[in-house]
Amino acid sequence: APVLSVRSLTRHYATGAGLVRALDGVSLDVAAGELVGIFGPSGSGKSTFLMLAGLLENPTSGEVWLAGERVSHAGADLDALREIRRKRIGFVFQKANLIPFLSAVENVALGLEIADVTPADARVHGRRLLAALDLAHRADSLPAKLSGGEQQRVAVARALANAPPLILADEPTAALDRVRGRQVMEIFRRIAATRGAAVVVITHDPRSTNLFDRIVHFEDGRVCERPQIY
Ligand code: ADP
Ligand code: ADP
Repeated sequence: APVLSVRSLTRHYATGAGLVRALDGVSLDVAAGELVGIFGPSGSGKSTFLMLAGLLENPTSGEVWLAGERVSHAGADLDALREIRRKRIGFVFQKANLIPFLSAVENVALGLEIADVTPADARVHGRRLLAALDLAHRADSLPAKLSGGEQQRVAVARALANAPPLILADEPTAALDRVRGRQVMEIFRRIAATRGAAVVVITHDPRSTNLFDRIVHFEDGRVCERPQIY
């Protein structure tokens, strides 16, 4: 079974201005080892898709399956899905959102969700992850002492702490310069290729198109087969 499978996913919002069809019947499979880019204009439903696929919100209709198991649907209990969310999905957002009074390695260790791991072991694991992202020398620094690119790589390390089979990233390079952005994208590329993770990245950076195994274009809440050139 695909790591992620979404079936006819729809999300409507009732607003003062009427019904907004943020997502309108999206179906998509992402396999292990696949790096998928999601492109599309602002307001086309990309973030909504990621929130639903990440079990952070429920769809109005449709289903989300992880590794062949149906986990989310219109009436799903999101609190009950917290365990699945934390152990099996790694999230990266535009802002690193690190805890300011914890060091880089402590931030990464916090992402670890293995019940019987000691704090000391968690730090060893965190250092190893940071080293793999060329951040060994920053492990004991507070976030404020790190550059934007370094902070984002710490956020990536935190997302990888549990070795989740699925990584979801929403504009992870938007706040970074070209070199740093490329570096973060290369990390996703490597995680997909070497660890076999399914990685879904929302971006509108056309420079990253050649890194993806597959590109999906969104328009008006739907997957668009014949996209405009962005
Ligand atoms: P994108 O990520 O592609 O910019 P979004 O998924 O954020 O698009 O939004 C898709 C549409 O849904 C937009 O029209 C947006 O205004 C609307 N939308 C998203 N979230 C909400 C919400 N909580 N309430 C009302 N409308 C929303
Ligand atoms: P927590 O257990 O910390 O409450 P959740 O299991 O609810 O986290 O969510 C998983 C991850 O998604 C966490 O890293 C959390 O910071 C992030 N997250 C949750 N909701 C949102 C949101 N609305 N916007 C951005 N990030 C979010």
